[in-house]
Amino acid sequence: ALTIGIAGLPNVGKSTLFNALTRAQVLAANYPFATIEPNVGVVPLPDARLGKLAEVFGSERILPATVSFVDIAGIVRGASEGEGLGNKFLANIREAEAICQVTRAFADPDVVHVDGKVSPKDDIETINTELILADLQTLEKTIPRLEKEVKIKKGDPALLTAAQDAQKVLEEGTTLFSGAAKAKLDLEQLAGLQLMTAKPFIYVFNTDDAGLADEGFQDELRALVAPAQAIFLDAKFESELVELEPDEAAEMLADSGQAEPGLDQLARVGFETLGLQTYLTAGPKEARAWTIHKGWTAPQAAGVIHTDFERGFIKAEVVSFDDLVEAGSVAAARSAGKARIEGKDYVMQDGDVVEFRFNV
Ligand code: GDP
Repeated sequence: ALTIGIAGLPNVGKSTLFNALTRAQVLAANYPFATIEPNVGVVPLPDARLGKLAEVFGSERILPATVSFVDIAGIVRGASEGEGLGNKFLANIREAEAICQVTRAFADPDVVHVDGKVSPKDDIETINTELILADLQTLEKTIPRLEKEVKIKKGDPALLTAAQDAQKVLEEGTTLFSGAAKAKLDLEQLAGLQLMTAKPFIYVFNTDDAGLADEGFQDELRALVAPAQAIFLDAKFESELVELEPDEAAEMLADSGQAEPGLDQLARVGFETLGLQTYLTAGPKEARAWTIHKGWTAPQAAGVIHTDFERGFIKAEVVSFDDLVEAGSVAAARSAGKARIEGKDYVMQDGDVVEFRFNV
């Protein structure tokens, strides 16, 4: 599965956030086939459309899409030197499709900061430096190999050039993700090279009431990490929120002045960052969101439900969520000419409510 790795310096609130994520985990009862792994938090992607669909179809239950987070402990200053980053750390972070960097931005004097002061900017630099150094080490081995391969006409010269360009970006102290646009790097091309900073980054600023209320502070950090997305949340608050019954949680959230839980924001931004989108199905049993990649065609989307659906794909009946809700039922949407029959080349759109026709 596609996962987002949670990384950050010690004592910034990673475990607190991760515990909140695992508490928010979709219950096994809802997902009989889900395996629960200790270092993976599988959280529902909030989607208000599912409740509406369940109303229209009289569905018994709602199954949201999910986003998986994996806990990647073990970054400290100097980690890329000497012994190097731990093998387990490297394996974990390489497996993750995106990196969520948790940074401390709360001012609790009782919680010791590893570097003695709370500075999100310095923390980001510390972590990114370690990741950049690790990527440079990777390229120092990779580039000579690519050069040899190109010499004997077995390698791709474009890949070699891309690797050399990447090295230049890293040498300037910039992550590949943030430097890609300016240096015209094609990150997809580099995908096979196991470079950590080529992955999309998300920054979570673990902050307090003061930070959550301070727009100027947030704007500054947003600008610092762009093009990566920034999320501001209070991990301790989030971990308390997930312990409450839904109505109590709603009340506590309202009291805090926040529009939605930070975990919901994180799930949504994580999902987007992975390049994913959903389509919807509904019936009397369940209203459900299915996860696909952006740009997938109808047969590919059908294959997420069952491989037979992809193989035997005939056509898809598609109604957009808005049209369906406006019409009030699929039958009414059909009469209003809002139900489309789409073939195998149809590219799925966000909010499509679909029924597939297939041969078995
Ligand atoms: P990790 O080492 O990054 O996993 O950090 P932890 O989650 O273990 O948190 C380190 C310490 O900071 C713990 O004592 C937490 O209770 C505390 N902590 C974590 N998040 C917050 C927060 O948002 N606000 C405050 N005041 N303390 C926090």
